[in-house]
Amino acid sequence: MSVLKNTRVKYFTKPLFNLLKAKGLLPSISDTEKTALRAGDVWVEGDLFSGRPDFDKIFSYPYPKLSDQEQSFLDNEVEEVCAMTSDWTVFQKRDLPKKVWKYLKVKRFFGMIIPKEYGGLGFSAYGHSCVIEKLATHSQVLAITVMVPNSLGPAELLLHYSLDKQKEHYLPRLADGREIPCFALTEPEAGSDAASIQSSGILFKDDDGKLKIKLQFEKRYITLSAIATVIGLAFVFKDPENLLGMGENLGITCALVDAKIEGIDQTKRHDPLNVPFVNAPLFGKDVVIGIDDIIGGREGIGKGWKMLMESLAVGRGISLPSTSTGATKLATFVASTYSVVRYQFGISIGRFEGISEVIGRMGADTYLLDAAKTFTLGAIDNGAKPAVANAIMKYQSTEKFRKNILDAMDIQGGAAISRGPKNLLAHAYFGAPIAITVEGANIITRTLIQFGQGMIRCHPYAYKEIEALEKGDVETFDTLLFSHITHVIRNGFRSCLLGLTRGYLHRPRRGGVTARYEQKLSWASAKFAFLSDVALGLLGADLKKRESISGRFGDILAQMYMMTATLKRFYEEGEKKEDELLLKVAMESGFNKIDEAFIGIYQNLAKGVLGVVFKFKIFCSNINPFGSIIKDDDLHSIATLLTSNAQVRERLCHNIYKGGRVQELFLATDALQKAKKALEKLKSLGEKALEKEEKLLVKNARKLQKEITAVDAFTKEEYFKC
Ligand SMILES: Cc1cc2nc3c(=O)[nH]c(=O)nc-3n(C[C@H](O)[C@H](O)[C@H](O)COP(=O)(O)OP(=O)(O)OC[C@H]3O[C@@H](n4cnc5c(N)ncnc54)[C@H](O)[C@@H]3O)c2cc1C
Repeated sequence: MSVLKNTRVKYFTKPLFNLLKAKGLLPSISDTEKTALRAGDVWVEGDLFSGRPDFDKIFSYPYPKLSDQEQSFLDNEVEEVCAMTSDWTVFQKRDLPKKVWKYLKVKRFFGMIIPKEYGGLGFSAYGHSCVIEKLATHSQVLAITVMVPNSLGPAELLLHYSLDKQKEHYLPRLADGREIPCFALTEPEAGSDAASIQSSGILFKDDDGKLKIKLQFEKRYITLSAIATVIGLAFVFKDPENLLGMGENLGITCALVDAKIEGIDQTKRHDPLNVPFVNAPLFGKDVVIGIDDIIGGREGIGKGWKMLMESLAVGRGISLPSTSTGATKLATFVASTYSVVRYQFGISIGRFEGISEVIGRMGADTYLLDAAKTFTLGAIDNGAKPAVANAIMKYQSTEKFRKNILDAMDIQGGAAISRGPKNLLAHAYFGAPIAITVEGANIITRTLIQFGQGMIRCHPYAYKEIEALEKGDVETFDTLLFSHITHVIRNGFRSCLLGLTRGYLHRPRRGGVTARYEQKLSWASAKFAFLSDVALGLLGADLKKRESISGRFGDILAQMYMMTATLKRFYEEGEKKEDELLLKVAMESGFNKIDEAFIGIYQNLAKGVLGVVFKFKIFCSNINPFGSIIKDDDLHSIATLLTSNAQVRERLCHNIYKGGRVQELFLATDALQKAKKALEKLKSLGEKALEKEEKLLVKNARKLQKEITAVDAFTKEEYFKC
């Protein structure tokens, strides 16, 4: 060490180090949290956290494409299974038809993530996601049923953590549906706090001399559990007699349990908002399994939490973003076509400004969400495990799902409220809160995971400093601390200069319409990085508990991430002129949310003298915002584009299943567009002025219009069967 450093360590760093330790001023991290933090990688989130994102690098990341096999599967098998499934009948009978179950198994829908050598389809994350997305546009039950075996469950755990013999036994059987899997983690006392599970496994030596585990468990909300033949089970493993020589408490462990074993009770069912996918509690009393049933064998003992966190870190970016993007695309398709065919006050409701404002917003949201989903899947397919980006995707996509379904239902009015085979939205609406709740309920995901984990995981120094503090390593802490201070000063200056120049100081990677967005993103990143360090300095360990503050930081990070992905989409799709408005509204609404979050942080972060400083910052933010008010004209123009230009609508809502009622809606919209001039003539000059051809166009359009705007009505007997 140099003399300077020696002196610095002695008179500054060491006393500070001792103070931080004694007062617990840096967030402490429990072992379970450490495992969650170490799961996955840091990707673009790290750049956004640095205050100086390298857009050259970010925009050069590969964008995913479907393989020929995946495209063919979507065009054939997925189309066919949708055509075989009436979502209404599924709700009436409270199950998928037998022929659909059989088709799903035979065509290996349950083995999309299983490699071909084990009999699965070996799809990429993007291919797998497109299948789930398309199924979700037709039937949430179909999508959830296919999604679960392909997400966090036995197959995923077997692929990454099991012994070869376990893989060889189970994977082919899971791929062709001989085995139906479920994964049981959640318990009555352990929901969001999943690490506190009570289900236990006690090691004992049986009469035959073999080591066995006796399980007691009470699980709930487990998807597919009532029909599962193999149960992935998380339990706390104990060895009271120390038979393994590893001590008594062996930690959370995962095993594969044959559902036929005595003591397992699969007889009960939950009813998740009437959506009839299989979801149930699961009980086990004195269930005996072999030690070889542990995933990963003896190597897997005590590694259950790590396995789950690592799988969840990736899975969050695939399943729920796929169903949510599917539902959002469906909502936008239905809203923009229905608003053409539904007439009130003598004109299409889409021509009312109130409606077109909502459609405009939905269009921009769909563009942004699909962009973020695709960008994230590209990273996963490229081998990354971006834990924070995936948590952002889980939260943002499911919130957008909820919002857009509600918006589309507002536009459909009574037709969306009245259930029946004609209704396209109600069942998706039932599914929205389910997506919000699972794989990390949204409130905790927003307030704790997006930023709380992000701050520690993606920050260039925070986690390393905490580690050095925990290890008592003053020298490393000193080096990190001074690099950190330089980082804060640099970001402070950058944020200030970029603020004064409204971002113009940043040289964008490209000219054209995107240049300003990139400049503002760079500015937002510098301000975010600087302010998050200020918050860490002010609140220390309390930052974790101040969830309303960290939630707002999470919102900023999420918006920056989604907007970066949207720019990437615009570039990848050839910077299309007709997409410029979608891009503009998506970006401006993101910047507006960023402004709102910064002001919220300034308002609530500190009181006293700093509170006064922050009041001045609020004033600055108000006169120098990132965003600008979204113009009505822009929203109306998007709506006009979506209601009148089938090509743009198709591109925005691609990969939705276009059979059945969606096809009818499309045909009715098309017929009305074709009859538009004739209808206007009819209105101004009367029926006699119409040519024969025009009369035919009007007749056809009116017929289809009547059919598509009709709602279901039931006889008393039918109603009481519903
Ligand atoms: C339909 C359905 C299917 C499911 N499938 C499965 C499955 O197959 N396998 C499985 O193991 N589990 C499954 N789950 C469980 C699911 O993952 C958990 O329900 C979820 O993690 C939330 O647990 P909880 O419902 O007990 O809510 P709670 O944990 O009680 O949370 C209640 C509320 O408190 C919030 N909250 C909790 N802690 C905090 C915090 N620290 N800060 C801020 N807010 C907080 C949550 O965000 C939530 O809003 C399923 C659940 C449902 C509803």
